[in-house]
Amino acid sequence: MLVLNKQFFVDSLLSMAELAEEQRDHWTKLDSDIGDGDHGINLSIGFRAVAKQLETLDFESTDIASLYKKVGMTLLSKVGGASGPLYGSFFMKAGTHLDGEHEVDFKQFTQMIQDGVDAIAFRGKASLGDKTMLDAFLPGLEVLSHSDLENEPLASFEAFVARMKLGSDETIPLICKKGRAVRLGERAIGHRDPGSESAWMLMNVYLEQLRKIV
Ligand code: ADP
Ligand code: MG
Repeated sequence: MLVLNKQFFVDSLLSMAELAEEQRDHWTKLDSDIGDGDHGINLSIGFRAVAKQLETLDFESTDIASLYKKVGMTLLSKVGGASGPLYGSFFMKAGTHLDGEHEVDFKQFTQMIQDGVDAIAFRGKASLGDKTMLDAFLPGLEVLSHSDLENEPLASFEAFVARMKLGSDETIPLICKKGRAVRLGERAIGHRDPGSESAWMLMNVYLEQLRKIV
């Protein structure tokens, strides 16, 4: 079984911070079509703070639970808007069962993502089809739950990310039921939900890191 160490998680977070810089204008453009145009700005502020925090991390003594708790708290406290608290709770919850752990196997890793998405759903109270980031996450997790995690970790994760990307495409014809874009009503039709785009792209960072070690 594939084992993911702490370096994997730190490298992924640093890559997510790079992604947030690269995609800032793109995510913001999506959000200016149907929101208030700050999604990219929010995530770049948040992940910049995360990257800064990692510079002073005591790597040896920090377990995955406390690493992700710190990251989650930073996103929660530094980012305005809906997405900061939602992604913040993703990381906080993803690490909860990992006190004292400095590595996880691939199955535990997918459980971390499941736990994190549960936290987003709990906090945001959105359902499938509400035109939010959950429209990427939920179908992706469904695919992952039917995958051969033990024997085909990389293919499983590729299928997960591909389904998330498709889930983001599927937000385009929807009316928004949660978040700021609700007030647009039918004018939201024809526009991609920005959070669904950042969600699959952030999970794609894990995929890129996995490809380096599998
Ligand atoms: P805000 O909407 O407060 O300006 P952002 O622009 O950073 O915050 O994030 C908007 C994204 O957050 C949306 O595109 C959507 O995917 C996600 N979102 C908003 N509300 C919810 C919710 N209740 N549940 C899940 N995701 C949500
Ligand atoms: Mg916004």
